[in-house]
Amino acid sequence: MSDHIHALALPRIRALSPYVPGKPIDELARELGLDPADIVKLASNENPMGPNPRILAAIRRAARLLTRYPDGNGFELKAKLGERFGIDAAQITLGNGSNDIIVMVAEAFLAEGRNAVFSQYGFAAYPLATQASGAECREVAAKAWGNDLEGMLTAIDGDTRVIFIANPNNPTGSWVDRQDLERFLARVPGHVLVVLDEAYIEYADDASLPDGLDYVASHPNLLVSRSLCKAYGLAGLRVGYAVSSREVADLLNRVRQPFNVNSLALAGACAALDDDAYLEAGRRVNRHGLAQLQAGLDALGLSWIPMRANFVTVDLGMPAQPVYQSLLRQGVIVRPLDGYGLPGHLRVSVGLDHENRSFLDALAIALKESGHAAH
Ligand SMILES: *Cc1c(COP(=O)(O)O)cnc(C)c1O
Repeated sequence: MSDHIHALALPRIRALSPYVPGKPIDELARELGLDPADIVKLASNENPMGPNPRILAAIRRAARLLTRYPDGNGFELKAKLGERFGIDAAQITLGNGSNDIIVMVAEAFLAEGRNAVFSQYGFAAYPLATQASGAECREVAAKAWGNDLEGMLTAIDGDTRVIFIANPNNPTGSWVDRQDLERFLARVPGHVLVVLDEAYIEYADDASLPDGLDYVASHPNLLVSRSLCKAYGLAGLRVGYAVSSREVADLLNRVRQPFNVNSLALAGACAALDDDAYLEAGRRVNRHGLAQLQAGLDALGLSWIPMRANFVTVDLGMPAQPVYQSLLRQGVIVRPLDGYGLPGHLRVSVGLDHENRSFLDALAIALKESGHAAH
């Protein structure tokens, strides 16, 4: 019977490999018989600071209206975003995480006979959404571990409708600078929607990193996607947003699920945008943690990919699985990247000082256990 049901599904859906998230803390705690508080999870680029008390208070207030449907248009959150960035609320699309935005774009613009362009080592949601839509995936070989904008322009043809660019990129942390982005935007044909995915932009303290919002007014085929799940610390609530022309926002609104962002998430996001101090504290924690991780990796003789984000992708120069497994046994969760075609790399999210230290200590042991030459 289940085989029969399987055969009924669309071939392109049967061919999908589901997204593999970082291993949940509770799952590893159960497996090891440990207290979840003793697990260090640096696997999903989450904000390590713990929930912002102001957001918790806003959620508690919003919970009084839990029996009511949320504001399906997200009026207050859009107004806040509009004010903050000087954009019209009609240019904003809210998402259940920015992953939801990616799916909406695919639903609205992709189908069989069309294609989407993205980079090798690009974010996993791009091929998933593209394949699910029936469109062709055009993966362009990476340059310096990230988006080769020239190569991506070359891959565009008359059937291309979407090009996905994460800046900075996940899982490698690589980035494109202002000049390269501007040169690219000037040349990308008008029949292609550029999705500039800026999930990590709040961590950028490099002046050469462009702010995609600066280009939306002048490029009607540009959509900038942002997330409140990373630097703003709302991963569990799921909130993201896109800024685009009104026309593109209107199209996405046609495929957007009614009430896609729940009422607690809307309230939490509004509170998050009102608290720049939390964001700034997170940036400080991140700067400190990046320096700590990089120094620790250097001391272990490991190389890592230069990044502008809240994670470090380490090159082990050997299969990463044994090291990953040893880290798990020691209660440390990081992210293996086999699924991205990087079987010798591990991605480590920046944690708090003691978490980074635990990871580095566990890594030294893991390298020894796996017979790594460089420790
Ligand atoms: C984490 C991530 C997202 C998804 O973020 P959510 O808002 O949690 O859905 C999108 N793009 C990239 C590149 C990411 O790393």
